[in-house]
Amino acid sequence: MVLDEKGFVQTDETLQTAEPGIYAIGDVVGPYMNANQALADATIVIDNILGAERQREPLWVPELVYSAVELARVGMDDEQAEDAGFEPAVGFAAFETSPRALGQDDTRGFVRLLADMDSGEVLGGEIVGHEAGELIALLAQGGDRDSLLRRIAQAPVNHPSRAEELLNATETLAARWGLGEFVFGD
Ligand SMILES: Cc1cc2nc3c(=O)[nH]c(=O)nc-3n(C[C@H](O)[C@H](O)[C@H](O)COP(=O)(O)OP(=O)(O)OC[C@H]3O[C@@H](n4cnc5c(N)ncnc54)[C@H](O)[C@@H]3O)c2cc1C
Repeated sequence: MVLDEKGFVQTDETLQTAEPGIYAIGDVVGPYMNANQALADATIVIDNILGAERQREPLWVPELVYSAVELARVGMDDEQAEDAGFEPAVGFAAFETSPRALGQDDTRGFVRLLADMDSGEVLGGEIVGHEAGELIALLAQGGDRDSLLRRIAQAPVNHPSRAEELLNATETLAARWGLGEFVFGD
């Protein structure tokens, strides 16, 4: 195995090591040392062993921290979005007014979405609070991210539920940033 200066196993984009036919996944590859990346890597490597040439897409692998308050994020943060040439708008909703969170007596946390001002493309998002790890899957879902705001706005979520705060964050993108056509359009 060839290691880099931090001790991570060096691989190419398909996760193949310097030894042909030998692949590495997860923490030993780094720098993303989280469970979802290890699982995502495993599926990529199996496909590649079977003949595909899949590459890592760490940006869209959700990162979760199951601490006293759950922390979840996916996609770009504000700085990455600006560096990539986007103009990020922020959609925000706090659990402090969520009827479900109030009923659970745990109103800590929020949903924060980033969407591009010009195209409405979802660039990333953060969810903090109870069940954040479950809710981030709604943002990390496959399909094109240009239509994701509309799909979230049209999703038939339960009332009361924490998932409604994704809808509310999406609606703030329409109300505050004029992204209504991307949220409510056809
Ligand atoms: C306390 C703690 C809390 C964490 N919390 C989170 C969290 O909230 N969210 C999150 O996403 N991630 C969390 N992580 C990180 C997460 O557990 C790892 O990123 C993930 O397990 C990496 O998976 P992996 O398959 O690369 O390695 P591992 O899960 O470490 O699996 C490696 C396996 O290889 C085995 N092994 C090692 N050496 C040998 C050998 N020589 N021969 C045979 N077998 C060997 C080990 O026993 C182990 O079973 C946490 C980690 C810790 C330690």
